[in-house]
Amino acid sequence: MTDTPYDRRTLAEELGVPVSRVTDAVLAEIARDPMFPHHLELCRDDPGMLDLLLGPYEHADEGTPGNAELLGRAGAALARWAASGFGRVPQETYQGRLAACRGCDQLKAPPDRALYRLMGGGDGRTVCGMCGCDVRRKAALASESCPAGRWEASGV
Ligand code: SF4
Repeated sequence: MTDTPYDRRTLAEELGVPVSRVTDAVLAEIARDPMFPHHLELCRDDPGMLDLLLGPYEHADEGTPGNAELLGRAGAALARWAASGFGRVPQETYQGRLAACRGCDQLKAPPDRALYRLMGGGDGRTVCGMCGCDVRRKAALASESCPAGRWEASGV
């Protein structure tokens, strides 16, 4: 299996956990789910939640790409995450992005999956149907953009 020690070390340092906690399963989940790095970032200061996210993680839906492909995709996702500097947008921009999402026909109720439940998905429409992200979190991150360009189109 291809190893990615730099990516593992970078992620472990950012999260304040031993490198051994950044398992192949964690990298695979990062590659599979664009929300996962967001969850990790948001839980950096919550050891209990972080432990849940880094623990044994299984997903039964969707096909499973090969390990090399998963690790490559995880590396790209981690690079983007690190390059963002974990920046957050100003409150005004955040509210403007959320307003655009609330008026968007792509906004859906969260699927019944463990991660969404862990993060408190609620009953309303909170997930972008185009990218699968929880817009309440995605909209706060400076590195993120609307896949349909609707944030920009709304003047945010
Ligand atoms: S991120 Fe864009 S496409 Fe997705 S729900 Fe928000 S406005 Fe709609």
